[in-house]
Amino acid sequence: MRQRKRVVRIGDVLIGGEHPIAVQSMTKTKTFDLENTLRQIRRVQRAGCELIRCAVVNRDDVAALPKIRAAITMPLIADVHFDYRLALGAIKSGADKIRINPGNIGERWKVTEIIQSAKDRNIPIRIGINSGSLPDDVLAKYARPTVKAIVQTAKRALSVFESNDFTNVVISAKGVDVRDTIEVYRALSEQYDFPLHVGITEAGLAFEGAVKSAVGIGVLLNLGIGDTIRVSLTADPTREVVAAYAILRALGLRKHGPLLISCPTCGRCDVDLEGIAVKVDRRLKKYGSDMKVAVMGCVVNGPGEVRDADFGIACGKNVGAVFARGKEIRRVKERDLIDALFEVIDENFDN
Ligand code: SF4
Repeated sequence: MRQRKRVVRIGDVLIGGEHPIAVQSMTKTKTFDLENTLRQIRRVQRAGCELIRCAVVNRDDVAALPKIRAAITMPLIADVHFDYRLALGAIKSGADKIRINPGNIGERWKVTEIIQSAKDRNIPIRIGINSGSLPDDVLAKYARPTVKAIVQTAKRALSVFESNDFTNVVISAKGVDVRDTIEVYRALSEQYDFPLHVGITEAGLAFEGAVKSAVGIGVLLNLGIGDTIRVSLTADPTREVVAAYAILRALGLRKHGPLLISCPTCGRCDVDLEGIAVKVDRRLKKYGSDMKVAVMGCVVNGPGEVRDADFGIACGKNVGAVFARGKEIRRVKERDLIDALFEVIDENFDN
């Protein structure tokens, strides 16, 4: 059960409350490199990304923001570290939200200026606390970036926002590992009703990073914690978006076009099931509708194991079965199986 949260608007996307968990990603280009930045944004948007964040590192990046904003339809988030003037510039340049880590912005008055500017433009601020940049006195008290140290740092950062009567806030706080991060978010969700941006930082290369993110983000979402997610991968950002939807779909929280399920195969399988599943997956990408399609390795157990799939095939030796909503409706030669599956999908599904 998701916990009730405040609602925050980022451009035309609402997060928190009962709104769907929004999928976001971050560009990996130099933000001032307009051509490549826009190309990357369009690619992640085609993959289903709903919020995009760009690093704002210098004045050239700030200058690029209005052009990016004008060229895209997705809300744009500016990610600013260290220099409060860049944050002010990003806000003036039309960012729909900014992300700062108050711990590295410095003096309180600088954070206050950012807050006032965001208030004037009525845009939210994400407070991104990171275990790598905790205040010295907090670190001295706890000796290392413990869960308590991170939560105390988040509280301290939030107190500046609260004293400025600014509640247009999203929080994120990353621990040193997956388990710490889970505990940090659990503590924050008990104490605050601001929407939470959930992610596992520095997760790693595509496979390990997706697994770590699925564990960390998945556990939290299953507890009802998290209002927007980013899967951070050392990989093309479209893979972050694909992984994010896979997590959301596994938990039944979002649908996002066709979903392929396939069996792991065993000694009963007489076909190259992986090859068949890859071909089916490729053809499914042309379909926009939400549907579950199963590719199973044998006709003995296959159909029974995927009764809840909309469509499926169960492969046998030289012959296979096509089924729709649990019922076998065709038996065809193995080489015709994929075409037969898509004929059935086209007959039954209005795309
Ligand atoms: S569907 Fe058949 S081949 Fe696949 S795992 Fe189950 S029993 Fe084995």
